[in-house]
Amino acid sequence: MSEIERTATSALEQQRVWEYATAPESRDIVKLRDRYGLFLNGRFVEPRSGSYFETINPATEEALAEVGEANEEDVDLAARSARDAWQERWRDLPGKERAKYLYRIARALQERSREFSVLESLNNGKPIKESRDVDVPLAAAHFFYYAGWADKLEYAFPGRVPHSIGVAAQITPWNFPLLMCAWKLAPALATGNTAILKPASTTPLTALLLAEVIEQAELPPGVVNVIPGPGGRTGGWLAAHPDIAKIAFTGSTEIGKILRRNVAGTGKRLTLELGGKAANIVFEDAALDQAVEGIVNGIFFNQGEVCCAGSRLFVQESVFEPLLDKLKARLDTLRVGDPLDKNTDVGAINSRDQLEKIEELVQSGIDEGAEMYQPDCELPERGFWFRPTLFTNVSQSHRIAREEIFGPVLSILTFRTPDEAVEKANNTPYGLSAGIWTEKGSRILWMAARMKAGVVWANTFNRFDPSSPFGGYKESGFGREGGRHGLEPYLDLDGGDGA
Ligand code: NAD
Ligand code: MN
Repeated sequence: MSEIERTATSALEQQRVWEYATAPESRDIVKLRDRYGLFLNGRFVEPRSGSYFETINPATEEALAEVGEANEEDVDLAARSARDAWQERWRDLPGKERAKYLYRIARALQERSREFSVLESLNNGKPIKESRDVDVPLAAAHFFYYAGWADKLEYAFPGRVPHSIGVAAQITPWNFPLLMCAWKLAPALATGNTAILKPASTTPLTALLLAEVIEQAELPPGVVNVIPGPGGRTGGWLAAHPDIAKIAFTGSTEIGKILRRNVAGTGKRLTLELGGKAANIVFEDAALDQAVEGIVNGIFFNQGEVCCAGSRLFVQESVFEPLLDKLKARLDTLRVGDPLDKNTDVGAINSRDQLEKIEELVQSGIDEGAEMYQPDCELPERGFWFRPTLFTNVSQSHRIAREEIFGPVLSILTFRTPDEAVEKANNTPYGLSAGIWTEKGSRILWMAARMKAGVVWANTFNRFDPSSPFGGYKESGFGREGGRHGLEPYLDLDGGDGA
């Protein structure tokens, strides 16, 4: 090799190791308090329990704040406050007045969007580009959308007289902490109900910031209460309280089943939005590069901690090899790391518990004979991290093809005919979502009609809009959130007295 060639080669090598400069979002916009109380009857108060728990940043394991834990007495105070607010202040307020409050909340979310996104990324571990471009704007959009319904309920259900039902207990998960509060609060308030929100115990901070916004919007006291605490205790007491008329739950199928048993015979209304194991199906005529983007978004968005994640990829055999090559090449470009860096694609796993669950299931995949692929990206030393992961040689009986992993792990299977794709895609106890990739419109319709899934995306994945209903079949739960359908669980459409 000549001197010139050698210089050229080493310049090329240098080019290959060029890195992005970091582009960290400043966290100064977030003013964390050392301690947060409960939001009860329109004010932040110390918990009667006297106990606080620590909430951390999963990307660094540093403590962010202490949060008050609601005990039985706190739950009781919240329930009484919400019941009184419903009877005395909220249910008889004209819809257009309720709408004004919802619009105020929506606008405050927009005005404070950077604060909310940074805090969400700090407490959850998700990349700032997702909290900034998805979680927070969608949360505001939900309030805007349901504000629009508040004075039009009689047109939503022609020929029927809609009445609010009372106090809603709203129990949310840690994967979309703020957005799930919005999905729950917006329709409940628009329809004239009052609410008690129990955020997930690892991610209470944006729910508490939302309580500040509710204060700022001057909602009548008691219309919204926020009471953090552990699921088994605070959540259990809340769900069991006799003043609760409706429970809206998003979380695991395991807890959903417990709630359903406990609610039986009480007359309480229940909606459950539970886990999933969605099929993302790629036909040989699909635009493969586009499909690769959809597959990556489907399983690596929010570190795969998404109930509707496209965690089972079904590829038509004839395009398996080229698709896999493209997918691996794309995986190598994903940037894993600091959630507050605007270049980050995959952030931290939300908790050590969740990380251990992912690791255990991935090990089962290896033990059962599937073949694993991971890009060799560097991971930060502290915090909870997992590399984007693909499995091939997966059979339908493997645990990684059956159980919800709730992490950045994709199981790839193949099929030959559309009938076989339908059969395999529906071979799951879940039924929340599905994706179809094909150029043929007729095939999209044919497939969509056969998917046992609440949402079917075609040539896209993980698209959300407040006007579109979302919810499951089978063990993914029942009831719909979003859209006109999302009003129904909060309304009594037959009763006449509104009580
Ligand atoms: P979880 O079901 O334990 O928790 C969800 C919410 O319910 C939290 O607010 C929790 O505090 C509360 N809760 C827990 N036990 C309760 C009880 N006995 N009574 C009342 N409320 C209770 O979910 P998790 O532990 O946070 O996550 C575990 C698994 O759940 C995940 O691995 C995933 O499979 C699934 N999950 C699904 C979704 C979804 O969007 N469908 C979201 C988060 C988690
Ligand atoms: Mn749990």
